[in-house]
Amino acid sequence: MISQAKQKGERSGAWAEIDAGRRALMKNEIMSLLGKRGISLFGISEPKELAELPAQFSPRSILKDCRSVLCYAAPIPKGILHAETDSSALFWRFSNMTYRFLDTVSNEICMLLEAQGHLAAPIYSCFPWKVCGKKFYGLLPLAYLSQECGIGKLTRSGLVANARFGTRLLFGGVITSAALEKTGKPPDQMCPSDCSLCRESCPPGAIDRGGKVDHNLCVRHSGANPLLAHLLADREIKAKFGFDTLLNTVGVDDHGMYTCSRCLEVCPLNR
Ligand code: SF4
Ligand code: SF4
Repeated sequence: MISQAKQKGERSGAWAEIDAGRRALMKNEIMSLLGKRGISLFGISEPKELAELPAQFSPRSILKDCRSVLCYAAPIPKGILHAETDSSALFWRFSNMTYRFLDTVSNEICMLLEAQGHLAAPIYSCFPWKVCGKKFYGLLPLAYLSQECGIGKLTRSGLVANARFGTRLLFGGVITSAALEKTGKPPDQMCPSDCSLCRESCPPGAIDRGGKVDHNLCVRHSGANPLLAHLLADREIKAKFGFDTLLNTVGVDDHGMYTCSRCLEVCPLNR
């Protein structure tokens, strides 16, 4: 009996090793794909429910059997934020191109995981949005998830920063039923203790002392979408379609201009 129990223990130890090997291999395949697309910032975490967010924004609300969350990031060139003129226009174009690029990479990773027998769904970089309690959210909150994945840390501007690129980061991600090898913890606090430049510089005062951003104030000030304004002024259209539908069909990708990126420009982490 003792030797059978020992054998059983040895076998389960061997399976655990094989499982760990598979998890590491899958992670390496994903890293290799990201590397080929020029993406070096990457992390994997557990699909936790986050206390700060409504339950509908948890990974398992979209994929019941989710066992891993993957996030990756692309940096915004410094020259865009610090351009002498037309910084917002450059930022708008760069962001929209990069969102599409990251979304395509997310689709690719989903298919790679599916080919290995797993379910996977993309977390798109920007649109579609959901309006919940007068706040604007992506279908899953990439800022929070990227922090869980260890890519960066939420700052007092509500943006995620890492040591190399500051808050100049755009994110993409995937949730999957695959149990993947998890990566490291987020860095420590990134904001210097005496800094409040983003809050002081935000034109509509959308950032509070605790680093919470009033989505409504920010979105109203930082974007212009004449088509959405036109549709919202039409009572018949407004009654026929929900606000989310109008926003997601006319706001998506290049259809609304950016008019503010002040919190990124003034942040010392982006110098
Ligand atoms: S983008 Fe502009 S309005 Fe929005 S939080 Fe930053 S500084 Fe404020
Ligand atoms: S401006 Fe200062 S407080 Fe705001 S995010 Fe950057 S470092 Fe943090």
